[in-house]
This record gives sequence, structure tokens and C-alpha cells, in this order.
Amino acid sequence: MSHLLEFEHVSYSYHSIGGETLALSDISFNLTAGEFLAVVGPSGCGKSTLLNLICHLTEPEQGRILYKGEALTKDSVRSIGYMLQKDHLFQWRSIEKNIYLGLEIQKKLTPKTKEYAAHLLQKYGLYEFRHKKPSELSGGMRQRAALIRTLVLSPTLLLLDEPFSALDYQTRLNTANDIGSIIRGEQKSAVLVTHDLSEAVSLADRILVLSPRPGKVRRVITTSFPDDMTALKRRGTNEFKDYFNMIWKEMNGDEESTYSAGTIC
Ligand code: ADP
Ligand code: MG
Repeated sequence: MSHLLEFEHVSYSYHSIGGETLALSDISFNLTAGEFLAVVGPSGCGKSTLLNLICHLTEPEQGRILYKGEALTKDSVRSIGYMLQKDHLFQWRSIEKNIYLGLEIQKKLTPKTKEYAAHLLQKYGLYEFRHKKPSELSGGMRQRAALIRTLVLSPTLLLLDEPFSALDYQTRLNTANDIGSIIRGEQKSAVLVTHDLSEAVSLADRILVLSPRPGKVRRVITTSFPDDMTALKRRGTNEFKDYFNMIWKEMNGDEESTYSAGTIC
């Protein structure tokens, strides 16, 4: 199978007046086209740094990153979409105009791309809200709009940085379910970073467990759920609890008692 993205022994440090902070150390992994990869690790272990490296906001100090088999460059980033914790929708623009934003910036706003935007709005239940302002939508709907704004640019790879953490618990579960189904339905490849283990298990095909800073790959866990099983359905299975406990132990050590995934997920 072809690899869309490859990290080969990547390390990265921040340099400031206060000194050097090693954020990521010797990170190697790959992402197959169409795969949903989650990266979990405690706060400050380098998850956002890892995404910044993928979209070339910064470059590795050591090691290399390959995208579609070639060294990652600024040009590669054109086919990479980035979705953040906050929806970053402009309050003075309608949902439709927000969704056109990336197309406008890239000078790709054409009748064809407008039609595609309308299709995505319709498909994902936001068409009737297209003339509303973001403040008139719920948090979950705004995150869906933010995802559509990214999808309308037809990215090959989606990067998601804790995209649900600003939402309340119930909205978070439903929105993660919706966004997971949309990403799978559109057959996109994705890298989701999160500190929420249950979110990772409910969404990903493979989970990269990072150590506290400097982030190192502690373990890679492949999940095995039926292709058409939604994130919410996954949460109700015994396998879900097993994967959760596996990662929990990996992050907290074997001596820690096993957390009952059922009570907190
Ligand atoms: P995460 O997303 O996992 O919470 P980050 O990738 O944001 O972690 O940061 C990793 C580490 O690098 C943290 O310890 C953080 O304090 C440090 N760091 C992040 N950005 C900077 C910066 N601009 N300058 C110095 N240190 C930084
Ligand atoms: Mg972060």
C-alpha cells in the first residue's frame, strides 16, 4: 500500500532566549492513503508541533518528512487542510460566505466550486442555515461548517488539532461522530491530535501514543472495527474498552489501576 505521509526519525526543538526545548524526539510513522490516524499524548508533548511540521509551518531539525513519496515542500501544503480547536468562522460573514473564504483566497471561487459547496452544505445538513451568521448556529454545527470550509478545497489530507475540545461533553460526542462519518464518507486521509483517549479510539484506524515531552512514539495501536461502524457505536463495544485500557496503561504505567472506560467515555 502506498504511503501518503512518512516521518523518518524526526526531531524538533524550539529555541528561545530561555534556552532550547526539545518538543519531539525521533518520531517515525507513516500514514496510508485513506487512513485515519490519531496521535494521543499529554498536554505539551508536541502534538501541535507535529501537525505544524506536516503543514510545513516549521521544518524538522533532524530526520525528514515525505509526502506522496517526496520531500514535503510548501507546495505539498496546497492539498492539506487544517482544522483547529476553534472554528475560526468570521462572525460578520454568513455560513456560506465563510465556506467560500478559502476558495476566494485561492482564487478558486467558480460556479463549479460554489456548486460543490452547496452540495456539501446540503449533504451535511447545513444548507438551510447557509445565510445565517455563525453565532446563530450551535457549536457542533459551527464545527461542521468549519470542516465543510476545509473540504470544499478538496484536500487529500486533513489535519485536526483537538477539534472538539472547546465543545461541551455531549456536543463533543455528537460532533466527533458527525465529523468522523463525514471524513470517512469523503474518503479523506486524516491525522487527528487529541489528549482524549476515548476520542482517538472512537475515530481512528491507528493510534500513535506519544510520551510526555519530548514526544516519542511509545506505541502504535491498530484498531479493528467494522468499516461502517460510527464513532458512537464504537464506544458501546467491549473492544472499545480494551483499546482504551491498553492506551491508558501505556500512558500511565502498568501499576496504575485500569480505568473503567465505560464510566468516563
Ligand atoms: P501539545 O500540542 O501536545 O500540547 P505543543 O506542540 O504545543 O504541545 O508544544 C510542545 C512543547 O513545546 C511544549 O512543552 C511547549 O511548551 C513547547 N513550545 C511550543 N511552542 C513553543 C514556542 N514557540 N517556543 C518555545 N517552546 C514552545
Ligand atoms: Mg496542542
